[in-house]
Amino acid sequence: MTKLPPKLTVAQWADAERMLTRESSPFPGKWDTGRAEFQRGIMDTFSDPKVQRIVCMTASQIGKTEILNNICGYFVHHDPCPCLVLQPTLEMARAWSVDRLAPMISNTPAFRKLIGDPRLKDGDNTILFKTFKNGARISIAGSNSPVSLASRPIRLLLMDEIDRYPPSAGSEGDPAILAIRRTQNFFNRKIAMFSTPTVKGESRIEAAFEDSDQRYYNIDCHACGEAQVLEWSQVRWEKDQPETAKYHCKFCDAEWSDVQRKQGIKTGKWVASKEFNGIAGFHLNGLYSPFSDLHEFASLFLQSKHTGQSALRVFVNTVLAEGWEDYEGDEIQTHEIMVRAKNYEAVLPDGSIGVLCASADVQADRIECLVCAYSKDQTYVVGFQIFYGSPTSISVWDDLEKYLRQTWPHTSGQDLRVTRTFIDSGYETGSVYQFCKRNESIGVRAIKGVGGINRGEVGRPSKNNSARCNVWPLGVDTLKTQILARLKIEDDNASGYIHFPDFLDEEFFLQLTAEKRIKRYVKGIPKMEFKRLRPRNEALDLMVYNLAAFRSLNANFTMIQKRLGEVREKATEPRGRKGTRNFITQW
Ligand SMILES: [Zn+2]
Repeated sequence: MTKLPPKLTVAQWADAERMLTRESSPFPGKWDTGRAEFQRGIMDTFSDPKVQRIVCMTASQIGKTEILNNICGYFVHHDPCPCLVLQPTLEMARAWSVDRLAPMISNTPAFRKLIGDPRLKDGDNTILFKTFKNGARISIAGSNSPVSLASRPIRLLLMDEIDRYPPSAGSEGDPAILAIRRTQNFFNRKIAMFSTPTVKGESRIEAAFEDSDQRYYNIDCHACGEAQVLEWSQVRWEKDQPETAKYHCKFCDAEWSDVQRKQGIKTGKWVASKEFNGIAGFHLNGLYSPFSDLHEFASLFLQSKHTGQSALRVFVNTVLAEGWEDYEGDEIQTHEIMVRAKNYEAVLPDGSIGVLCASADVQADRIECLVCAYSKDQTYVVGFQIFYGSPTSISVWDDLEKYLRQTWPHTSGQDLRVTRTFIDSGYETGSVYQFCKRNESIGVRAIKGVGGINRGEVGRPSKNNSARCNVWPLGVDTLKTQILARLKIEDDNASGYIHFPDFLDEEFFLQLTAEKRIKRYVKGIPKMEFKRLRPRNEALDLMVYNLAAFRSLNANFTMIQKRLGEVREKATEPRGRKGTRNFITQW
């Protein structure tokens, strides 16, 4: 009988086995996880059987290289299995193998028994492929090289700097999906993504983090004891004197010295902001670095601001670990959209349409309702009704219900019904809840908008209200940004285009274009927000709720195409936010 090795966590293994040399580290000698305590929470998810997927959106100064080394070491020495480390390019893969992995292996005594004679050159040990006597293997590949992604099954997949991956590996498709596919045979697989983020809305790591349980590292204030996530807005310094930079407590404004900040890091805790759904997500900005002092960041920030937008973007991405707001601030011309309206001749205009969604907005004297049809990549507004009457009386709700229960003729010959309706519960909340509970079987759901562009699009529903009604939180700003971007698409064949019917009046289009995105500077970093151009904006809100309703369905179009007409009964509750980011949903 072989003796099972003692079950260690990754951090325990690293503390027991890793040795750092003078060349590789400012702290030569035995590895100590306590030196950057937050690394423990990240690394130990890799030895936690409950976690299969790990997302790390971090600054570049928090010791990621050693985190990767420790994970590789653990899965070679302690829990041997086939591993793949995926770097953005083949060149980066080679460099990582030679500069990072090889020194770790040769400096860790535990590996001596596991490696063959390095003088024997054989196919089992190359820069990009290494085998060990206990059966462990490490492949190192470039995301731009489809060949290196095609072969052997793997249990541990480490995707590094994933925001620098190309959209497709050659003509083979998304490299992240190709790599993940190779883990399918292992029930105990680990899939991890590491990256600093890039542009907001286009960043892979940001999208993956949004799908995770979103853990942030909380530190207690030495003065008032309140736990907090360190934010750049709390770092202050005397004008033009970055060397005076200090962190200030969010709650009591007490100054933290670098020593106090580093002491706080040692006793900090990871706190998830969403329920765990199988994906552990970690966000960590550079303010947590125990290897730097805050004045270094303040100097870098002032320097970047002086150099210009591209330097500032690097600061935001690599120090703050936040996506850069690439905004377009120009407003949308109402009449340019109005002239696109067409007559659909009372039949849903496109055979590719699979889903109808509705959205409703409750006002003091009326309820407005919008119905949109969704094909795989386009939207058709097909119905718009205003039901007049006070929402405290039942008759206006009955009118809405009748409208939502009607069928819509489709070119396939099979009529469609509305699959999901989102109703804003911000006004006359009690009546909205009642209506939603009464019409739950036809997909009517209550929503509540939450501000802030960092929120996910459609959150997890919660019954945390007196009526025990399921209410879905919406990241309104994120969705609004997407609607405004789609309104700008002029080519009616292009993905994302929104079709409008010619029965809509000018007021609808004025409301639809009632807001524009503007840039506001917070400490010199551009933040995007919305500015109201006209007082009424219900049509824009309705479009936002409608898109959210569609997203909440996680619509599978191949399936829907097969069963047009049945979609209403079969639509499933979502298990998370669904965007256009297929590589996440295919995990
Ligand atoms: Zn405090």
